[in-house]
Amino acid sequence: MQAFDAILASRLPGFSETDAVGVAAATFGLTAATAENLGSERDQTFLLRGARGDDLAIMKISNAAEDPATLDMEALGVLHARRADPTLPVALPRVVPGADPERDGAAAYRATLPVGDHGATEAHLVRLYDVLPGSGRSDPLALSDAAIADWGEMTARLARALRGFTHPSAHRTMLWDIQHAPRTRSMLGDIRDTRRRAAVAAVLDRFEAVVAPAWPLLRSQVVHTDFTIDNALVDHDGRITGIVDFGDMSYSAMAVDIASVIDSLANGRSADELFRVSRLVLDGYQRVTPLEPLELRLMGELIATRSAVTIAIPAWRAAQRLEDAEFAERYTASAEAIVRAILDAGWDEAARRLSGSPRPAPDTDLATRREAVLGPALEPLTYEHPIHMASARGVWMTDTNGRRYLDAYNNVPCVGHSHPRVTEAIARQARLLNTNMRYLHEAAIELAERLVATCPPGLDTVLFVNSGSEANDLAWRMATAFTGNTGGLCTARAYHGISEASAALSPESWLAGKAPANIETWLRPDTYRGTDLDPSGFAAAIGRLALRGVAPAATILDGALTSDGFYDLEPAYVAELLRMTRAAGGLWIADEVQGGHGRTGDAMWSFQRFGIVPDFVTLGKPMGNGHPVAAVITRREIAQRFAADTVFFSTFGGNQVSAAAALAVLDVLEDEGVLPRVKVAGEALRAGIRDVATRHPAIGDVRGMGLAIGVEIVSDRPTKTPDPEATAAIKEGMRDRGVLVGTTGTAGNIVKVRPPLAFTTAEVPFFLEALEGALAAH
Ligand code: PMP
Repeated sequence: MQAFDAILASRLPGFSETDAVGVAAATFGLTAATAENLGSERDQTFLLRGARGDDLAIMKISNAAEDPATLDMEALGVLHARRADPTLPVALPRVVPGADPERDGAAAYRATLPVGDHGATEAHLVRLYDVLPGSGRSDPLALSDAAIADWGEMTARLARALRGFTHPSAHRTMLWDIQHAPRTRSMLGDIRDTRRRAAVAAVLDRFEAVVAPAWPLLRSQVVHTDFTIDNALVDHDGRITGIVDFGDMSYSAMAVDIASVIDSLANGRSADELFRVSRLVLDGYQRVTPLEPLELRLMGELIATRSAVTIAIPAWRAAQRLEDAEFAERYTASAEAIVRAILDAGWDEAARRLSGSPRPAPDTDLATRREAVLGPALEPLTYEHPIHMASARGVWMTDTNGRRYLDAYNNVPCVGHSHPRVTEAIARQARLLNTNMRYLHEAAIELAERLVATCPPGLDTVLFVNSGSEANDLAWRMATAFTGNTGGLCTARAYHGISEASAALSPESWLAGKAPANIETWLRPDTYRGTDLDPSGFAAAIGRLALRGVAPAATILDGALTSDGFYDLEPAYVAELLRMTRAAGGLWIADEVQGGHGRTGDAMWSFQRFGIVPDFVTLGKPMGNGHPVAAVITRREIAQRFAADTVFFSTFGGNQVSAAAALAVLDVLEDEGVLPRVKVAGEALRAGIRDVATRHPAIGDVRGMGLAIGVEIVSDRPTKTPDPEATAAIKEGMRDRGVLVGTTGTAGNIVKVRPPLAFTTAEVPFFLEALEGALAAH
């Protein structure tokens, strides 16, 4: 009935062990004392031994139905794999006496046993292989966890060694290759147990619905397809010493081999153990070859399908009386247990457990769990109806329902969410090395050199930390050490971090209005209302500190005034503030956590707009495009003064993965010409919003630089009265229309537009439509 695999539907050759000794002599001229039949589904395999019981060779007498081209593929595949990975434990085929591989090609590795010889009723092809060390038929339950992970690694090595191999015979229909699983549907009737049959049918249904459509997307090549404990030799520790039987080798998905290994090693284990063992195998595999998300997502289906065919094919062979039922179905019970474990878990849960999360999914909703375990100090979720995010790419974020949002809010993924240059840099470096800065390594040093090169002369020393808060905290400590002063100055609505020192410099988070005694604030110039435009407010703040006997150690300024509302500052104004700070004995911290890395479009750092040279430049957020990495850039004499007091070391600061991420960000900023693009996109966006404002009087002012934009919402244009309620409603309304923005400013009436710098003019119309819709609706 099954025309697709004549071998699987045929009987094995029937040579006796005595015949085999004769066959070895007749075909390869090998004198063996004994031959032991090792059993096989497709051919007859004998271990030939010498007079002293020593192993001489493995001999395979092929099924008469076997196509010589298939055997040639096998020989060439094994030779290819060995060339690609010289320590891969595969048995090499021997050359037939008198043959020459140069001349005869793959045919040099097979001899023909003519009809009549040693009882042959049909002509058979005979091959001889080297004997590998180790023992076969090991018990998968006896394997240690380390050995199980090594099995995964070996699976990946084997596939990698075959990656460049191809042969016409590989494009065939092998039933064990699970891409052809739907063909075993016709065998369902041979599964006598009805529950078992239903389970196999459920797996085949799922395969057809979910796996088959995705199959063309799975990475494919020539693979073993039947890598099981029966086809491997192992040492005392269960480590693989030999991979044998390449007879099922076919062009299929790489993941097919993983499924066959997992099914084999999970034999006889509980459901929990199935998932744990699978994870260990996948870990081992990914030491060599990282899997793609689709491969991982379908792994449960692939494992279940492999088990389903392990039930169906032997049931059919037994029904056809091609094999003794008991022998044929020796793996059926364990295969059924695997199928059931996965069906019982459910496909989604199985995928989750296979990809590394062993905990069952709780039914409590996420917001409640967040509140319960993270407590009240954490900032609440954004939006009345919080968004459960699933993924993001470029300037688009996608929630778990598949709804897409234009991200006009997140400044951290500066070169765009999931930028491949950055994600690959992180993954590659994480696979290679990630450690601290007590060892020599070029990544952080190169990063520091490149950062210094972006700064004015004099800013020549870099210290790496992990967050903007830490960067500001460190700058603050250095400033106090250098000046001997303890006072700090920041804008009235500033935010600079969560550490004790940086939170003291963050009036935005002084909810109770409690200003620390050593800190004074000043009101930024309000370019919209024309107030506080000169530096007198700053002079007064220094004066207030002086009245308390405190001199400033530092003034800190976010050059984009993000928390204060995106007011554009005059260079002369900032230069005067800096002069006054220095005159009072303090240093200047340019906080570039928000305004840096090209946000303003005209320069890498926002302080460069003002033509000043700060004493510290602090970096964070966008520096690693979402990967935690931050830095302080300062002058050498300041670092020297600090070094006299203390030793600086941050465990994660400057680690190779963070440095790789930060270097990738700098590369992308250059390669994609991000700064000029930011300038154009920012101008287009502001112009578009100003156009919307002509129809909506709620917009009082549109300002900002580059892609740091504030849209001030007022209840009455003539009096410029802030309207925080309308601002909140606009934020919600834009969210409902698929655009994410925030709010900021002392009165909370400024729409904060601060998208990833991947935002281009192409996104402007979508943004404006949402803004206009939200304004019309509020
Ligand atoms: N400085 C500024 C200007 C910031 O906006 C922030 C964070 N919003 C910080 C410092 C603190 O950075 P982090 O959250 O990484 O500690």
